[in-house]
Amino acid sequence: MAEQYDVVVIGAGPAGYVAAIRCAQLGLNTACVDQWLDRQGKPALGGTCLNAGCIPSKALLESSERYAETRDALAAHGIRVAGVELDLDAMMARKDKVVEDLTQGIEQLFRSNGVRWIQGHAQLQANREVRITETGTDVPRTVQAGHVILAPGSSPAQIDSVPLHEDIVVDSTGALEFRDVPQRLGVIGAGVIGLELGSVWRRLGAQTVTILEAQDCFLPIADEMVAREALRVFKRQGLDIQLGSRVTACEADNGAVRISYQNGDGDHQAEFDKLIVAVGRRPNTNHLASDAAGLLLDEWGFVHVDEQCKTNLPGVYAIGDAVRGPMLAHKGSEEGVMVAELLAGHAAAVNYGAIPSVIYTLPEVAWVGETEQALKAGATPYRSGLFPFAASGRARASGDSGGFIKVLADAETDRIRGVHMIGPHCSELIAEAVVAIELGSSAEDIALTMFAHPTLSESFHEAALAVHGRAIHIARRGGKS
Ligand code: FAD
Ligand code: NAD
Repeated sequence: MAEQYDVVVIGAGPAGYVAAIRCAQLGLNTACVDQWLDRQGKPALGGTCLNAGCIPSKALLESSERYAETRDALAAHGIRVAGVELDLDAMMARKDKVVEDLTQGIEQLFRSNGVRWIQGHAQLQANREVRITETGTDVPRTVQAGHVILAPGSSPAQIDSVPLHEDIVVDSTGALEFRDVPQRLGVIGAGVIGLELGSVWRRLGAQTVTILEAQDCFLPIADEMVAREALRVFKRQGLDIQLGSRVTACEADNGAVRISYQNGDGDHQAEFDKLIVAVGRRPNTNHLASDAAGLLLDEWGFVHVDEQCKTNLPGVYAIGDAVRGPMLAHKGSEEGVMVAELLAGHAAAVNYGAIPSVIYTLPEVAWVGETEQALKAGATPYRSGLFPFAASGRARASGDSGGFIKVLADAETDRIRGVHMIGPHCSELIAEAVVAIELGSSAEDIALTMFAHPTLSESFHEAALAVHGRAIHIARRGGKS
């Protein structure tokens, strides 16, 4: 008789491993199949997020920020530091250790929860059979699942005119592994990865960072006011962001890469030491299911699912980057928990209107809910309250007071519809706004809440007060009436 599980999860990224752990916690006999191999060719849990995404990029963002601050900003606090030097090998080794510790942590969580980790490639067959080819073997075996959760994640998109080349023309994974600081760095795509990794290498000493973005609009998913401010600050930091630019040809040899590109000003050439291609990601759904399984994909290759992540096949669910919605680790994890709860017979849902987005640049950019342009386009009556960090005592004391928080509330119900921020520690501050939206808070609820002083979070309070023209620490236009 075939090996049997209540649940087989395909993929152990933040969507799949969280789903597997929650299924096991709920008493379901669970196996999780994953094919990821680390640089030494060893199986590793955690998918893109832990091995080549969120975690290594944040380790380098943190290290590069500390380096740049020590070099450029401590003097303003009256701290003189001489002879600041970069040890890139040590920085990379630290990043690798953080990744290793965290991936091994998931292994322990699997063990302690009783999740069976199967290392290898899995393919869904008809009737919830899963064909598994274990790493290091080429003889597949078939297991039978009561339910299957597909969590195969995504991979970097490529463009035909810019083929990857050794360690010179790389995708995001390669950009986390440079052994020297490129003096002339090119980036294709001014999205989240282009901005985060462009910032890392600029802080570490790249003389030029040129970011070529095909669209005319910068960060169209963000609130326009935030995107405008971000563009201004990033340009001042030395990120040469060129909008409306398309690369037409690329040639790499002798340790350099030459490209041709077009924009509104005509045809251009540029030469870089390294070029990062960061033009989005594609779902890993090739060979995920056999033809006989009949799994429905959409025109872009995402698995077709409903709001409960059910596919067109009975008992088969799909979650994470391989299904519609933003490609974010926490979105996939919450989908994983929801599906596990549903399989255990509980009621569960994901609130897709309360997914936080963060760009971990300096300043950080973060938002949740609707943008001002979306409210305008939908003719939704709204009120807006804005509070600049320049008026925050805590931001001033830490010497990091650029940016602002904007709260958008429904003009009729006062319910908070969106919160948009750019400034210090916004990746942490946004959580307050997510809780507010999740709990259906009004701007007045936040206005009536007490915040500790002096904190950055007071700025959220003040922005909520500003929705009704009641902010204390900003001057009233036109003075007292
Ligand atoms: P993945 O993490 O891609 O995991 C899928 C796993 O399934 C992989 O291990 C894959 O090998 C395996 N797999 C695929 N097919 C099969 C198969 N047939 N059989 C067996 N195994 C299979 N998101 C954030 O929220 N915050 C961030 O700060 C952030 N930073 C990022 C930085 C970078 C540089 C990148 C590239 C991404 C970043 N992301 C971030 C996005 C985040 O990594 C993804 O949204 C997240 O990893 C998706 O999780 P997932 O479980 O759906 O897929
Ligand atoms: P993205 O979609 O954020 O940005 C890609 C950019 O490349 C877009 O602005 C697009 O217009 C541009 N582009 C596409 N084709 C182009 C071309 N031929 N020439 C020039 N520009 C082109 O994608 P990404 O930055 O690759 O990130 C991939 C995914 O990973 C995102 O969905 C993101 O959510 C996720 N991610 C999240 C974080 C985070 O949460 N902080 C960090 C990194 C990645």
